[in-house]
Amino acid sequence: MNTLLMNNSQKIPMMGFGVYLSTGTQAIESVQLAIETGYRLLDTASIYGNEYEVGEGVRRSGIARKDMFITTKAWLNEYGKEKTPEALHRSLKTLGLDYIDLYLLHWPAPSSFEMTIDAYHAAELLMEQGLIKSIGVSNFTSEHLHRLLSETDVIPAVNQIELHPYFIQTETALFNHQHGIITQCWSPLGGIYTNHPENPQAIINLLSDPLIIDLANKYNKTPAQIVLRWHIQHKYAVIPKSIHPSRIMENFDVFGYSLTEDDSSQIDHLNRNLRGSAHPDVFDLSFMANRK
Ligand code: NAD
Repeated sequence: MNTLLMNNSQKIPMMGFGVYLSTGTQAIESVQLAIETGYRLLDTASIYGNEYEVGEGVRRSGIARKDMFITTKAWLNEYGKEKTPEALHRSLKTLGLDYIDLYLLHWPAPSSFEMTIDAYHAAELLMEQGLIKSIGVSNFTSEHLHRLLSETDVIPAVNQIELHPYFIQTETALFNHQHGIITQCWSPLGGIYTNHPENPQAIINLLSDPLIIDLANKYNKTPAQIVLRWHIQHKYAVIPKSIHPSRIMENFDVFGYSLTEDDSSQIDHLNRNLRGSAHPDVFDLSFMANRK
């Protein structure tokens, strides 16, 4: 298992399995297959509504709990001194687990950042109680991290952010690195461009990019494998999602070869600064309400 060392001396698998928008039996079966394929990190969230299915997939696989690394996340309406412990206990119950490996604050909630700090302090206490092994954040910019670091004690182990060749987030990834925070990339294959297209006419498919296709032919790999290998060579952790057996296996198989530095750097230059999600400075509960 290829892992990265976090700032709390614990290891995190570089390759994980995302489950956003996976539901029901499909979610259970894809989690089970992912574990059988070799994935050891599962990435869910209370807002995904599939924590039960993730836990069930783990149970059906028969794997020992200690051999799994399970991430879940507190949603924005679960931030607060009391609300965050309640949310964590809810997640544990739904997953059927007695601890979480990595608990993330899902978004920085800029309009009520004090709540974010309260949630983080609550997570620090939950970690002292052994209910969480590591605390992390998600979608934090360097400004959010700066403020968090100045008001809390535990440096986040992970910052999970949107990161793929069309949006390489150099500044945030560098800030993470300089502060010993692992960058874990969500939508590593650019899935966000199709998940919530504001303009369906303009759906962007990173995996059809001519350079990615050329490199796939050159290395005799698939476009997804080229993109995931690029992340791995940057020492990022990744959590690609699929419900299709062949893709689940394909995405896991990115460790036996390397891209040349030149090819990896060509992929860096695909960057379009094209964020697929909302900017973390505006994404909070009021933003969500106005969007509906
Ligand atoms: P992704 O980049 O993993 O893309 C997933 C999509 O790509 C799939 O739905 C499928 O259509 C396609 N795909 C997968 N494997 C493929 C392959 N081998 N070949 C061709 N197409 C393939 O996007 P994602 O699901 O948005 O992100 C991955 C995970 O990150 C999520 O499941 C979730 O766990 C996490 N996530 C976190 C946040 C956050 O705010 N922290 C936001 C979004 C997603």
